Amino acid sequence: MLTKPGAELRVFVILANEIYDEVRIWRRLLRVKREITVGHFGGAPVTLHWTLLLFFIFAGAATRSIVGGLVAFAAMLILLLMHELGHAVVARWLGLRVIAIRLYGFHGICVHTFPETEGASVAVAWGGVLAQIVLFAVVVTIAKILSSMAGGIPWVLDPAFFVWAPLNLLVIFTNLLPITPLDGAVAWKGIPVLLRTLFGRRKARKHENSKDDASKVVSMELRRISRSKEEQK
Ligand SMILES: [Zn+2]
Repeated sequence: MLTKPGAELRVFVILANEIYDEVRIWRRLLRVKREITVGHFGGAPVTLHWTLLLFFIFAGAATRSIVGGLVAFAAMLILLLMHELGHAVVARWLGLRVIAIRLYGFHGICVHTFPETEGASVAVAWGGVLAQIVLFAVVVTIAKILSSMAGGIPWVLDPAFFVWAPLNLLVIFTNLLPITPLDGAVAWKGIPVLLRTLFGRRKARKHENSKDDASKVVSMELRRISRSKEEQK
């Protein structure tokens, strides 16, 4: 039987909604916490929200295997954690206080004190993307090394490599779209800030150079006057 285009997606959305409601009811009944703390970063708690389980269900359905789902789930956790740690490391480097790192089903949040300058907000926004680029580079290098070896990449790691390489790139490009609340909304403000800084410095240097030129002219003129006075003597 032929199904209408988009019918499968509609079924998936309905199913996901039902699972979400079911989990919410059971969570209330069993008084299960919304999130658990799994560690700390510089005193800030790192928490996992229950909606991460939705990604596990999604990954299990996509890979059609529990092992595949678990591997993709673990890889996604690492990817989300790397992104948020990227924000946290830059924030701390700039002297901001990191309050919490929270990981949700398909995204994360790094809560920190508000940066005082626009440049600092831009730097923190790029921190997440840069961490993802580092992860991508490391994973591609490991994949190359493994593929050159006799056994190649173990099949069990395929979902992890999928999450860390193509999905990671897709997340980077999507996240860099200049739309609030994505990082791109702040990150691209960095270009005008950078240009302003560079242009401002060049202007300042030009000013210094012209001052140098002026002082050179003055000293040459003084030398010329003293030479003519000596000649008169
Ligand atoms: Zn981010």
